Amino acid sequence: MTIKKGKHTTCIHQGQITDEQFGGALSPLYMATSYPFLDVEDKRYPRYFNTPNQEVISNKVAALENAEWALPFSSGMAAISTSLFAFLKKGDHVVFQNELYGGSYHLVQEEFENYGIEYSFSKGLEISDFENEIKENTKVIYIETPSNPLLSLTDIEAIANLAKKHDLVSMIDNTFASPINQTPLDFGIDLSIHSATKYLSGHSDISAGVVAGKKELVDKVMYKGRNFGGNLSDFMCFLLERSIKTLALRIEKHNENAHFVAQELSSNPMVKKVYYPGLVSHKNHELAKRQMNGFGGMLSFDLDETLNAKIFQKKLQMIKPSMSLAGVESTIIQPSLTSHALLSPEERISQGISDNLLRFSVGLENKEDIMADIEQALKNIA
Ligand SMILES: *Cc1c(COP(=O)(O)O)cnc(C)c1O
Repeated sequence: MTIKKGKHTTCIHQGQITDEQFGGALSPLYMATSYPFLDVEDKRYPRYFNTPNQEVISNKVAALENAEWALPFSSGMAAISTSLFAFLKKGDHVVFQNELYGGSYHLVQEEFENYGIEYSFSKGLEISDFENEIKENTKVIYIETPSNPLLSLTDIEAIANLAKKHDLVSMIDNTFASPINQTPLDFGIDLSIHSATKYLSGHSDISAGVVAGKKELVDKVMYKGRNFGGNLSDFMCFLLERSIKTLALRIEKHNENAHFVAQELSSNPMVKKVYYPGLVSHKNHELAKRQMNGFGGMLSFDLDETLNAKIFQKKLQMIKPSMSLAGVESTIIQPSLTSHALLSPEERISQGISDNLLRFSVGLENKEDIMADIEQALKNIA
């Protein structure tokens, strides 16, 4: 009998391999790439996603996502591409949310046509925006909530119901929320995908991805993954296991710090607008309360037009202007110079991304120190 445990307990204990030999406190690391085959039904091999340390991650992530099973990949994009290709073939159509992570957007734009897979992007984030794009040959619907970089929300349950109505496989990029703040399978989503490079690892030192869902669907992704490769190495699984032990603890602090920073920034006259689902002023705050257990560590804000966002970032002393997100350290990024640099200023404006928009990954430093750094940099450029 499995007893339903709390998140912290699950993060720490779920799936751990008992060290029978020495009684050590950790899952032993098994680096073997060769396992027996005689009279063995499920032959173990790293690319088959079934080595002992891979299964630790599968067990832990599945438990956190309230899923039957999960798979560890070598990157978020490996998890995303393998999941999509597992359910899409030539002649099929897929509906994507219009606000998508840059890498996912490139995958679709640059690869799908080569494989004869059709796609549409929703015009907005209302359910009708998605339903309008569904065609005869649509097989998959794919969302990302909260989205990057504006932290917009999509109604997870409504999307899951729409998918059921039209017999589609529903997928979500759950990276920004983490399984601590959001468990999309509880709302009926089929596959929940993460860039584990972000919160699941949390220390800016692991590249990984995961997919979680019903065993039957995850198995389809697994068979596609055996052909494509992209499995996570055992050593990285060992490190990721260590990271996930503190996931719930870290996320609670990320939530607290980001909420504090969002509130402080909202009352700062040098900041024009703050995007954070936890703020009552956020357009999706009610939805956030319905589908999220916490509002997350990510926020964005517009600096007043009179200020120079680039110089502001150079004046920061502790907060690092760096790519990526979700580490223990606070990092900041200017989408107009990075993820959205290839768009024209007009295209950016149409997506609501001003040139003075900054996306902030609020870390685990003392929240007063985070704010102090922002305030001294703002004073410096005023
Ligand atoms: C980083 C990220 C990805 C891609 O993950 P990689 O590990 O870089 O391949 C996908 N989705 C979101 C929301 C991300 O932040």
